[in-house]
Amino acid sequence: MSKNQALFERAQRTIPGGVNSPVRAFRSVGGTPRFIERAHGPYFWDADDKRYIDYIGSWGPMILGHVHPDVLAAVQRVLAQGFSFGAPTEAEIEIAEEICKLVPSIEQVRMVSSGTEATMSALRLARGFTGRSRIIKFEGCYHGHADSLLVKAGSGLLTFGNPTSAGVPADIAKHTTVLEYNNVEQLNEAFKAFGAEVASVIVEPVAGNMNLVRATPEFLNALRERCTEYGTVLIFDEVMCGFRVALGGAQEVYGIKPDLTCLGKVIGGGMPAAAFGGRRDIMAHLAPLGGVYQAGTLSGNPIAVAAGLATLRLIQRPGFYDDLAKQTRKLVDGLTAAAREARIPFCADSIGGMFGLYFSEQVPASFAQIQQGNTLRFNAFFHAMLDAGVYFAPSAFEAGFVSSAHDDAVIGATLDAARGVFASLSA
Ligand SMILES: *Cc1c(COP(=O)(O)O)cnc(C)c1O
Repeated sequence: MSKNQALFERAQRTIPGGVNSPVRAFRSVGGTPRFIERAHGPYFWDADDKRYIDYIGSWGPMILGHVHPDVLAAVQRVLAQGFSFGAPTEAEIEIAEEICKLVPSIEQVRMVSSGTEATMSALRLARGFTGRSRIIKFEGCYHGHADSLLVKAGSGLLTFGNPTSAGVPADIAKHTTVLEYNNVEQLNEAFKAFGAEVASVIVEPVAGNMNLVRATPEFLNALRERCTEYGTVLIFDEVMCGFRVALGGAQEVYGIKPDLTCLGKVIGGGMPAAAFGGRRDIMAHLAPLGGVYQAGTLSGNPIAVAAGLATLRLIQRPGFYDDLAKQTRKLVDGLTAAAREARIPFCADSIGGMFGLYFSEQVPASFAQIQQGNTLRFNAFFHAMLDAGVYFAPSAFEAGFVSSAHDDAVIGATLDAARGVFASLSA
């Protein structure tokens, strides 16, 4: 038995499903999850000492590759000074200043420890600010696992949302309306029907949790216009795409200013850190200034902040995002060419250091289109690539990530493996 298999069996005795976050269990692709022992640059190694080129990067945070020496040094420097104080530190001001500088729509920011906390808190703040309860989200967007956000569409536009998870009361889900991503007409209809009740619209401006799906500029512009018109708080959930598609996030790419932004993943550099922030007049409603309560024992943790700050400083190197986007493009173009050679229906897209692979003829624009892809073929591709030492996301419904450590040799090795795999799939 492989060590991975032995660990998985052991893990399932004390951990539900053997994992601490569901997608890690390989349920959608089948097989045994790899237990990771160590990582360096673009690689990680599993319990059987097999090396993989890593295209999940901890689902986004590892934009500099694993164990970047400057980030490591920053963490080592603060470790000996204490792990957590429950009192403010200067480094928290530094990371707040850095975030406000890099994302100009953020005038004030509050640190939290996970993306889930960031979106949950931003929604509470939007509800407290507007005095309204209803929120709008979009099908296929993931915003963490707070109750209000684990909701799918009801049978019609005006019907209540339904929970997607057991344990979410219908009384909570009914305040969430779920609309189709990139559907401007439906959005306008919804606002016409009940716009004055909507506290907030929350959206992934580049969706990365149904595989990669870009928002159209028309869609995001319509969101901005309706929210302004109806006094609704527009929340960009940039937990994944922030500092990933561009230094200033998707809001820089599209040139649209949300009222609040949620950040996570990259801002922790691999440590548990996330944040939400935005308009000063809205942020003023947060405790201790205002009546919206929000708190956290480990919020702004000195070690997480040190890793985040070091990461945020390194990604500001001139040309960083041009290089990252170029390498990511090389990967998706190379994969597309290899699939074409093997006559496999396949396409791919990338934006900054984020990419999507689709076993379909056309780049999808919605959750419904994503679901039409050939998941059986994706699963075969995933396992063959894994055998060849390339670790893509273990689900057809997740995006992929390239780091600045993925150089030409790494991309080249990936494409060499892919040519063989695509050929075997078409055989
Ligand atoms: C990952 C993610 C979250 C949740 O963040 P956690 O740190 O896993 O709680 C929220 N929103 C988006 C867009 C994400 O990608």
